[in-house]
Amino acid sequence: HAQEQGLDQLRFYAPEMQDKALKKLDTETRLRNAINENELFLALQPIFSIDQSPTLSGFEALLRWKPKDKGWVPPSEFIPIAEQTGLILPIGQWVLEQSCKVLRSWAEKYPENAFSVSVNLSARQFSDPDLVQNLFNCIRHNRINPLQLKLEITESDVMTNPEATIQKLRIMKELGMAILVDDFGTGYSSMSYLQRFPIDTLKIDRSFVTHLDKHANRVIVRTIVNLAHSLGLSVVAEGIETEAQYLTLREMGCEYAQGYHFSRPILLDQIDEFIREHLKK
Ligand code: C2E
Ligand code: MG
Ligand code: MG
Ligand code: MG
Repeated sequence: HAQEQGLDQLRFYAPEMQDKALKKLDTETRLRNAINENELFLALQPIFSIDQSPTLSGFEALLRWKPKDKGWVPPSEFIPIAEQTGLILPIGQWVLEQSCKVLRSWAEKYPENAFSVSVNLSARQFSDPDLVQNLFNCIRHNRINPLQLKLEITESDVMTNPEATIQKLRIMKELGMAILVDDFGTGYSSMSYLQRFPIDTLKIDRSFVTHLDKHANRVIVRTIVNLAHSLGLSVVAEGIETEAQYLTLREMGCEYAQGYHFSRPILLDQIDEFIREHLKK
């Protein structure tokens, strides 16, 4: 009887699960062709230095996917699949190459402004034995200043193998790249890594910034900023959507700001227009 019930349940759940699995497989197949089909785009979101009045300091590289026959697919839908299937390796390499190409073109167009580009690295890329060599090749091939290329990692991503991580981070830093800890405050890892890992900057997660009107979040953010500064690190706040959030973060001593209040991510083909407008001011 129990078995019969089990079968009933199976019949009940199977179509839904099948749907999900098929959708994932479909996404995977289409994503596999996305690079060759020129369906991937780079968006850049401005990051401002807010010590004084906001000054453009650099950008975060954010991946965008527009399949030929469909609308834009948000990263939250395809990045996890890219990570599970290993497709994040060629895709991440594409993002890296695009970012280095942009930096090369800016070195010619805006030689006075050393804007930076930060690239998100996922765990899978971090455990790729070729990562450091690929970074080095990309920098050399495009003749860019490594100080302008920054790398964003998340705590949980790199905590699985701390010794190997420290070794890789050291080489990246020796090459001149800065390391940012993305989504800081949302992970479960021990904070002891903050003094053991050669990192430069903490990016305060958007969830704290969004609810900065709540006392508890202000306490948390102030504590993160003070912690960072005590360790000699700088702080970027992400997801700033209002003037009030910006002013609160500036008052707390946060050095850099990113969010819709300043600018949404901008597609690469519109970025020069944005920079030229900005430099006029
Ligand atoms: P992230 O690295 O934390 O990037 C910041 C996300 O916050 C971006 O979402 C950005 O568009 C969004 N954002 C920025 N300011 C605001 C704001 O004021 N309000 C709101 N509501 N959102 C804001 P996006 O582009 O959808 O990317 C989501 C996540 O996907 C990224 O989070 C990152 O983890 C991942 N991702 C994006 N591009 C790449 C990539 O090239 N490689 C890897 N490995 N992951 C990527
Ligand atoms: Mg990021
Ligand atoms: Mg990220
Ligand atoms: Mg983030």
